Amino acid sequence: MKNWWKDSSLKVKLQEPLKAHTSFKIGGPAQFFANPLVTGHLQDLILSAKKSKVPVFTIGAGSNILISDRGIRGLVIKFDSPFFCRFSLEEERIWAGCGLGLAQVMFKAKENGLSGIEFLAGIPGTLGGAAVMNAGAWGKSIGDFIEVVEVMDSKGQIKILHKTDLEFKYRSSSLSKYFVLSVCLKLRKNRKERIQENIGKFLENRLKDQDLSLPNAGCVFKNPEGSSAGRLIDMCGLKGRRIGGARVSLKHANFILNENNARADDILQLMNLAKREVRNKFNIKLEPEIKIWK
Ligand SMILES: Cc1cc2nc3c(=O)[nH]c(=O)nc-3n(C[C@H](O)[C@H](O)[C@H](O)COP(=O)(O)OP(=O)(O)OC[C@H]3O[C@@H](n4cnc5c(N)ncnc54)[C@H](O)[C@@H]3O)c2cc1C
Repeated sequence: MKNWWKDSSLKVKLQEPLKAHTSFKIGGPAQFFANPLVTGHLQDLILSAKKSKVPVFTIGAGSNILISDRGIRGLVIKFDSPFFCRFSLEEERIWAGCGLGLAQVMFKAKENGLSGIEFLAGIPGTLGGAAVMNAGAWGKSIGDFIEVVEVMDSKGQIKILHKTDLEFKYRSSSLSKYFVLSVCLKLRKNRKERIQENIGKFLENRLKDQDLSLPNAGCVFKNPEGSSAGRLIDMCGLKGRRIGGARVSLKHANFILNENNARADDILQLMNLAKREVRNKFNIKLEPEIKIWK
């Protein structure tokens, strides 16, 4: 396995601390870490890693991932080079790279008088991460606006997937088996001022509801059908509960905060406690929304 990347045209970093790449600010080192510059680099990396049986992971803004303090054995790929953050426009459609932040996608859409995705305001992910997770809020999800996705598969082949090839569910999608490279969103014309107003309203509501005081990864559990995970956890009296350096938010019980150098295990223990209490009290099984890399 040693030096498996030497065939590749790209520099690979060793022992990159992943806590610097997650919104939880938790995570041990990645054995290998790379930021491909262009599609060809990505292909080289995937094929070289595959040949040496090195597992490959993808990280976006790391705003929905909990990573073990022991770190990750394998290669972690981050798409933050300019090539993977590009943006172009074609009438009511935008094409953007997977690494572009949702805030930038929304800003550029607004500047070009294109509306529809303002509900994403305040979600701190990349476009790639949002597409894979089918990120959403206020009853809308990004999948509803996705028309085409350019992906690479595990054999290094590029594919163009159209809406009919894709499946989007609540906080998941059929894209999770690919490397998402770029996404085409179909929006509609609107006045810039109106779009800005929408963004402002969504941000205001989010600030009322969410706890942004300390590092976190948003809602840790999916909402069970017809219910709210936050409300169920709250009704179990768990707001404010601490384990190690982690605490259940006092404002939103589905948020777990990294209050004081929390370990991944502190977060997991609080999640297990919430799961157990909710199952005992309501006979409801909570499913994690965040991705857990052990
Ligand atoms: C304060 C806060 C509020 C939040 N509010 C919301 C909300 O309202 N609604 C919501 O849906 N989410 C919310 N989230 C969660 C998170 O921001 C979203 O899920 C976001 O879309 C994840 O994007 P990311 O780039 O951070 O992905 P990451 O967390 O880095 O990755 C998430 C998953 O996507 C995969 N992935 C990432 N990029 C790619 C790629 N290019 N190709 C293939 N796989 C990829 C990763 O491997 C991982 O499995 C919130 C998070 C925080 C911290």
